[in-house]
Amino acid sequence: MEEQSTINGEQLTINKMTSLYLVFDFGGSKLTAALTTDELLAKQRWLGHHREFSPLAATAVTDLKTIIRLGRKLLAETGVARATAVGVSFGGPVDYQTGTVRLSHHVPGWENMPLAETLAAEFGCPVIVDNDANAAALGEHRLGSGQGFDSLLYVTVSTGVGGGWILNGRPWRGHETMAGEIGHTVVDPAGPLCLCGKRGCVERLASGPYWAADYEAEQGRVRGLSGKRVAELAAQGDERARRILQRGARALGVGLGNAANLVNPRLFVLGGGVAKSGKLWWRTVRQSAREMALPEVHFEIVPAALADDAPLWGAAVLARMKAEG
Ligand SMILES: [Zn+2]
Repeated sequence: MEEQSTINGEQLTINKMTSLYLVFDFGGSKLTAALTTDELLAKQRWLGHHREFSPLAATAVTDLKTIIRLGRKLLAETGVARATAVGVSFGGPVDYQTGTVRLSHHVPGWENMPLAETLAAEFGCPVIVDNDANAAALGEHRLGSGQGFDSLLYVTVSTGVGGGWILNGRPWRGHETMAGEIGHTVVDPAGPLCLCGKRGCVERLASGPYWAADYEAEQGRVRGLSGKRVAELAAQGDERARRILQRGARALGVGLGNAANLVNPRLFVLGGGVAKSGKLWWRTVRQSAREMALPEVHFEIVPAALADDAPLWGAAVLARMKAEG
């Protein structure tokens, strides 16, 4: 049976041969579900897309319920009985082989959650789960700034710092699927204490919330700042903000320069809110990476193209890979 339909402004032919990819993104504070097909994926269009904020008191159970509800809603709206495959981007470490979440730093209750198994039982199709930075790296490689490059490190710099590798044109996850943790590489062993228990990690110096915390701790009187606000103050010429921003940018640049020496990727793609901090930040990151890398090691550092949906597009590519076996 073939059906011509217009959904979400798209003229579509949906028949038994049409592959439908249902994708989910578990972010720290946002939950997103979207649906696409092969045809739409090539055009970077969604058949449907729903996003909800995760409440402050969220747990793994409430987040999972929300995602399942959003997924069912999408399928019902498009009149699709079943997705071909489900792709999931999860904001935390994941065992890629089994689709089990190791933990979440933002939401309690995710420890050892068999996410792929749970969603497969719910949606009756194969499910693939990856860490959000790996998913975003794949998204940028297939559809964004990394198109045509066979080696890159994608780095998201926002509330945390995460990374995902593409090597020889394919995701490289490492032997325990923990590769790409550039956020917790140490650039200053005598530096301030990081959430992970070590000192002077890239994340401790380069992520937005720590900029705000450091500014508040130094200044003494201000409260309620954000990383974005510190970047704005820096752009207005505030000396303290400029110093904190440059220290963060240098820490990231050192991490990138070290990664360049170790792996020699062609490209670094930077995404996340902090990557919107302006010219001073970009110039400092590039300069410091250049200074750290050997003169014979060449690379480019470019902004991500897919913005907030990068992990979701990556999840769609993963779902397609899963469907194709
Ligand atoms: Zn750390």
